[in-house]
Amino acid sequence: MEQPKDATEATRQALAALVETLPQDTAEDFELASKGFIATIPDAKVLNEHGHAVWDMGTFTFEGEGCGCPDTVNPSLWRQAKLNSIHGLFEVTPGIYQVRNFDLSNITFIEGDTGYIVIDPLISAEPAAAALALMREHRGDKPVTAVIYTHSHVDHYGGVKGVLSEADIAKGLQIIAPEGFLEEAVSENVLAGNAMGRRATYMYGALLPRNARGHVDAGLGKTVSMGQVSLVPPTVSISESGTRMVIDGIEIVFQVTPGTEAPAEMNFYFPQFKALCMAENCSCHLHNIYTPRGAQVRDAKAWSWYIDEAIELFGAKTDVLFASHHWPRWGSDAAISFLRKQRDLYKYVHDQTLRMANHGLTPLEIAEELKLPPTLAAEWYTRGYYGTLNHNAKAVYQRYLGWFDGNPANLHKHPPVEAAKRYVDLAGGAEALLAKGRDAFAKGDYRWVCELVNHLVFADPGNADARHLQADTLEQLGYQAESGPWRAFYLTAAMELRHPRPPSDTPRQGAAGQLRTLPAEQLLDSLSVRLNGEKAGAREFAFNIRFTDAKEHFLVTVENAVFHHYPKRELKSAPTISLTREALVNLVTGEISLPHESVAIEGDAASFADFIALLDRFDFWFEIVMP
Ligand SMILES: [Zn+2]
Repeated sequence: MEQPKDATEATRQALAALVETLPQDTAEDFELASKGFIATIPDAKVLNEHGHAVWDMGTFTFEGEGCGCPDTVNPSLWRQAKLNSIHGLFEVTPGIYQVRNFDLSNITFIEGDTGYIVIDPLISAEPAAAALALMREHRGDKPVTAVIYTHSHVDHYGGVKGVLSEADIAKGLQIIAPEGFLEEAVSENVLAGNAMGRRATYMYGALLPRNARGHVDAGLGKTVSMGQVSLVPPTVSISESGTRMVIDGIEIVFQVTPGTEAPAEMNFYFPQFKALCMAENCSCHLHNIYTPRGAQVRDAKAWSWYIDEAIELFGAKTDVLFASHHWPRWGSDAAISFLRKQRDLYKYVHDQTLRMANHGLTPLEIAEELKLPPTLAAEWYTRGYYGTLNHNAKAVYQRYLGWFDGNPANLHKHPPVEAAKRYVDLAGGAEALLAKGRDAFAKGDYRWVCELVNHLVFADPGNADARHLQADTLEQLGYQAESGPWRAFYLTAAMELRHPRPPSDTPRQGAAGQLRTLPAEQLLDSLSVRLNGEKAGAREFAFNIRFTDAKEHFLVTVENAVFHHYPKRELKSAPTISLTREALVNLVTGEISLPHESVAIEGDAASFADFIALLDRFDFWFEIVMP
């Protein structure tokens, strides 16, 4: 089995040159990330009910105290990795506590009159429960009195069952979230879920070993926990900025920030503590305007505007600022200075990208040219550990001008394999192309090597020399990357090129689990993108679908190779199918087939079986770096 390789001389030189350009390291961030430390558990190790670790910082001991930066890691990312290794329970201010680095995100506890208000219960239940247990051990065994979800991303709600019991949920204990939370939490990752899920395996480095040649950090946090994920709907929705609530004796003033880091998000302020929670709108790096796992582009202008509004609303009366990733800032001046620079970071990328676009520059050109002004570049918390200036500039371009750069040479290009065959021919054949690739590799021009050799991999994925050279190249780019996700993309690609996954005759449906949790409406919506248009052709269908579990019914039709669904409608002449959502998912994924006891059909049963057969099954492990 081929192992990861050493850093090349070119990589060592590139990283040495980068060190000269980094901000001065005053160790301030390490003080902030450690301030108020109360206690932790060994290696922050959290087991699930089967005894498997769902979180274990012990797998990152190669980053521990005294470990210098290896030449296979970007020194700036290494610094962030060390900061993201400082785990445990911390006092933010008397009355507000955070458990950090028990998961990708932070969980925050506010001490109320009778118990704890929990902000953002992590990705999965086990780490959230461990964090609550740590809090109770050191601050008193009190009940949870309310939960707040700052926004609709899973690392901020998925572990809620670790802090709430079924009885808490049944009695309707307050769960507060921004307006649109449930809809966005359910819908953001569904229609393109399989593709996003597969791409996320690249972005978070989940398949990589944890070592100096593998996964070191996600930038936003260490990595993602692997426990039980659930979605408990909120009971209170916040739709207006300025909304005030008193929960368990604690006053909270909300600021809703839709269309920022998440489609539904909110900041809030605690007057009693003079403390401001910035959700994920501010973090100690440049965040993603576009997330490389794939998602709709975010609105950098709105994002910046809402940070500015937070300064206006709360800045002058803020003694401490905290967020749901990374470490707090203490003191009004420090908080305001941080907020202003975070505000301007996103607006700068937005405005400068459009300035250059209006000069006629295209995305690749803008991304290459964009550099931060000196005042922003002087801060560590503007660096691209998660987002990068490069891909965020392309995102702003995409939001306003779309994928097309205006040059018709790019309007109707050959798809990758067809282009690849022609490029290999142009190079004078596979050997000649490889020779050129090796020359460029020796010169350290890795960006060119990967563009060139990618053509040979796509023209002939069986060419092991091509795959290995491409892997070596992407690996060096990974070692050089400052962004955690970029490093993970490069190194995961290198691993898959060296060790291709054997093909499978049946789709490996990794993301199908998500379908079972969907409301009926979204489930049907998600099935519509499985209808194989080519197979459907001119065929027409109509069914009455009655969900026996959700007590909802829909008319489902297919015409013009398009799947429609209409709630509360029925067509008398159409067959009626009664089943649970679970049974429908099982039919679609092939776990059961018709006829089946869990599916009752009145009318033409054969036509329903024909229709199910037109729905594609998605293979989670589709190829990315090979055709
Ligand atoms: Zn998050």
